[in-house]
Order: sequence, then C-alpha cells, then structure tokens
Amino acid sequence: MPLRPEEVSAVIQKEIAKYETKLEMESVGTILQVGDGIARIWGLEDAMMSELLLFPGETLGMILNLEEDNVGAVIFGSDHNIKEGDTVRRTERIASVPVGGAVIGRVVNPLGQPLDGKGPVVTEEYRNLETRAPNVIQRQPVKEPVQTGLKAIDSMIPIGRGQRELIIGDRQTGKTAIILDTIINQRDTDLYCIYVAIGQKNSTVARVVKTLEDHGAMEYTTVVAASATEPAPLQYMAPYAGVTMGEHFRDNGQHVVCFYDDLSKHAQAYRQLALLLRRPPGREAFPGDIFYLHSRLLERAAKLSEGQGGGSLTGIPVIETQAGDIAAYIPTNVISITDGQIYLEPDLFYAGVRPAINVGISVSRVGGNAQNKAMRRVAGRLRLDLAQYRELAAFTQFGTELDEATQAQLTRGERIVEILKQDQYVPMAVERQVMIIWVATNGFLDDLPVESCRRFEEGFYKFVEESYPDIVHEIATTKDLTEATEKKLEQATREFKEKFVESLKE
Ligand code: ATP
Ligand code: MG
Repeated sequence: MPLRPEEVSAVIQKEIAKYETKLEMESVGTILQVGDGIARIWGLEDAMMSELLLFPGETLGMILNLEEDNVGAVIFGSDHNIKEGDTVRRTERIASVPVGGAVIGRVVNPLGQPLDGKGPVVTEEYRNLETRAPNVIQRQPVKEPVQTGLKAIDSMIPIGRGQRELIIGDRQTGKTAIILDTIINQRDTDLYCIYVAIGQKNSTVARVVKTLEDHGAMEYTTVVAASATEPAPLQYMAPYAGVTMGEHFRDNGQHVVCFYDDLSKHAQAYRQLALLLRRPPGREAFPGDIFYLHSRLLERAAKLSEGQGGGSLTGIPVIETQAGDIAAYIPTNVISITDGQIYLEPDLFYAGVRPAINVGISVSRVGGNAQNKAMRRVAGRLRLDLAQYRELAAFTQFGTELDEATQAQLTRGERIVEILKQDQYVPMAVERQVMIIWVATNGFLDDLPVESCRRFEEGFYKFVEESYPDIVHEIATTKDLTEATEKKLEQATREFKEKFVESLKE
C-alpha cells in the first residue's frame, strides 16, 4: 500500500497536539562543602533566610547564611550520607512548628516532631519560627500575676503576666526546681506552660517530664526538648520553637508562660554554629549578633492590649553562671534584656535556705503592679524586716555586744528567713502565703524557737483552714486583708499559738 502523505501528516499533527510543554521549575542547588552539620550550597540564588531545605535522604536543613555566591545551611540530623556534589531541594517554606491544642501535653523536638512516643502531632495549624514581636501600641502594662506558689518569689519578686523574669545562678542551685513548682502551681489556672529544655541530658529531661506527669501538670504543658546529644542547630532553634507555640495562645487572648532552660547552653550552641559557618568571632568567641539572639526571643513576651485580645506571654529564661560571675558576657546581656532577676546562690543552698534566693539583689521591675492588695500589704513590711536583718547579720559576725533593739531585729529576721524556706513540689496559694507572712512580720513567731517555725507553719494552715475557713475565703474573694479579717487572723493566730506552745512542752 502506497504511503499517503496526507495521512502521515495527520498522524503527526495528532501527535503534536497531544504534546504539551511540561516545563517544571524546581530550584535545586549543589553542595560545595559539607561537614560538622553545616553545608555550603551553590545555585540557590533565590532562596530565603530561614528557609527549610531538603537534603538527600529527606533530611531537613535550614538556611542561616545568605552570601553572594553560596548559601550556608545547617542540617537537622546526621550528615554522614550527605556528600559534596549532592543536590539540595528548596521547600519554599520558612521553618515552622505545629501550634495549638495538638501540642498541649506533648514532648516534641524543635521541629514539632514527637519525642514521647504518643504518635504524630496532628494539626493543620503551623506558625513560622521567626516573627515580629508586638509593637508598643499593641501592648499594655502588665497587670495580672503569674503565681509561682513560692513564698519568697510571690511576696518579694512578683512576676506579672507578659513580663520577662530571669532565673540566674550557678549549677545545682535549684533553678529548674523553681520552674517545676511554678508549672505545678498552674493546675487550676488558665495559664498554659511551655518548658524548653536546651542542651540538657536526656535523663534530666525525662525526669522533668516524669515529675510533671506525676503532678498532673502535663495536662496544660508542652515540653520542647533539644538535649545535649542533638545537633547544635536543633538546640539553637528550641527556644524559638517554644515561643512560637506560646504566641498562638497569646494571640488568641489566652495566657502562657514560656521557660527557657537554659540560655547559656543556647548561646553555646549558637557560637558553635556561627564558628562553623565561619562568621567572625567576637568577645568570648561569640559572634557579633549574640545579643540579638536573645533579645529577639525575649521581645516576644508581651501583655497584649485589649484591642489585640488581651492575651499574654510571660518569658522566664534561665542562665547558668560560673562561680557566681554575673558580669560575664551572656549573663549581662540577658540581665539587660529582662525586667528583673531571681538570683540563686550556692552558699544559701548549702546552708539549707531553699529556694536559695538572694532576696537582697533579686528584683522584679514590673510585677509589683500585678500583686494583689493583700499580698502588697504584708510584703512591704517583710522586705523591710529582711533588709534590716541582713545588714545587722553582717555586723554581728564580729561578735559585738548587742542592744535590745538590734537583738529583736535579728530574732525577727531569723524567723522570717525560716518561713520563707519551702520544700519542692508544694507550691501554695496566695492566701496561705499572706497569712504566714502576716504572722511572722507581726512578731508572733519571735518567742518561738527558730527550729520550730516551720512546724508551726504547717500546723497553722491546717488549723485556720479547719477552724477559721472564712479568713481564707475572705482573703481569696476580696484579694485584700481588711481590718475585720486581720482581727480574725490575729485571734486565730493567738489561739493556735497557745496550743502549739503547749505541744512544744510535751
Ligand atoms: P542544673 O544546673 O543541674 O540545671 P539546677 O540549678 O536546675 O541544676 P535543680 O536541678 O533544680 O538545680 O536542683 C538541684 C537539686 O536541689 C535537686 O536535687 C533538687 O531536688 C534540689 N532542690 C531544689 N530546690 C529545692 C528545695 N526548695 N528544697 C529541697 N531541695 C531542693
Ligand atoms: Mg536545671
């Protein structure tokens, strides 16, 4: 059969019609250099800062350096199977984490991946890690308290919702203990908690989670963990992941407190990263933007204006000092960014004054506005008595003869120090705190032996709550210590003291 040209052309035309250009653009780059969890990549000219990248083997990475002819990226995971010449794909996504109800009660890594074996974090809601902090107009002054449940803090170093309060001290001085008690104390409040563990041992993190579970505190808490065994980039991201989860609550008119334990290790992880990325080192070998590292994190703590929903995010960072050196680079930076500091001291800790807070130099610059009236009434006197005591205690070490007034002040001080001590895992309601501080500052403990003060305290709460429940009720409802309530409190104190003194004689 002869070949008919028109038929052939028809076939060709049909084939051509079927053909459409399927041009797919995919931005890929080539690895120039890789090692120590860092890669330099060529060919990603249009990539964004903090954009996530896909390395071979579906390993995620993130861009941290945008340079003229290459980008520097960190790899979240092992770089063993990644080599020079491999291709890297853009995801066109900025690093983000899951937020909202799905993360409550979970233990996750800074990418939002579960670490608790409870299955994936299922949610549609994601937020970018790096966002802008609320501006001045969107904020309002701090006005509600974060009750830590610790007498020494709630009375003298009160923390307000939206504030940034630093916990600073040497290793093993009870920094994490303060955080745990604060979280446990939020059981019946509307405050969510986010605990970010940075560069800690896995076993330490596991213990924290266990403690929170045992106290039913995981019901309203999220733990974001990047332990010491994780690559530096993950440790670097951890606090931003935590604050991002917190912002979701803040921006929905809810309240949250974020703990960063600790920022010293965070700074070290960042230094490691920066040196590997060949950024020029500065003081203590930290890169020049180390201040910005922490300021942009803590700026995100805020009490939003009513127009913005009135939510709040309280930031509580921890700094570990070396031999009490608060003048080192990172401590001074963070001190200057926060609204107050809680100083913990090994000397006090070993002397049995726990929590080992040095109340002389600890401050809270804004939280006082958030304290309730009852507490404000008794706390003023407390501060004064303690300050006088400290001054005198330093002098009397020289063994000078004491006049009566001095002796009285010392006696008072010793007893106040005693009742400010508090065991772990027993945070207490403000009403209890107000009552015992009232008792101590009004001298009812002065003639009791110092060693018996804490026993007195324990029995006193029980007695008042059983025999004079309206005192507790009145302080709780009026949030004030009215004259009438004070009268009843005095009567209750006298009554209990009589019994207590009897019991001492036995
Ligand atoms: P690190 O530097 O290792 O993180 P840290 O400063 O966070 O330590 P914690 O782990 O909180 O300190 O506490 C150190 C030890 O002191 C723990 O064994 C803890 O149980 C104990 N401790 C802390 N606070 C108190 C307290 N109020 N009463 C009794 N023991 C306490
Ligand atoms: Mg700790």
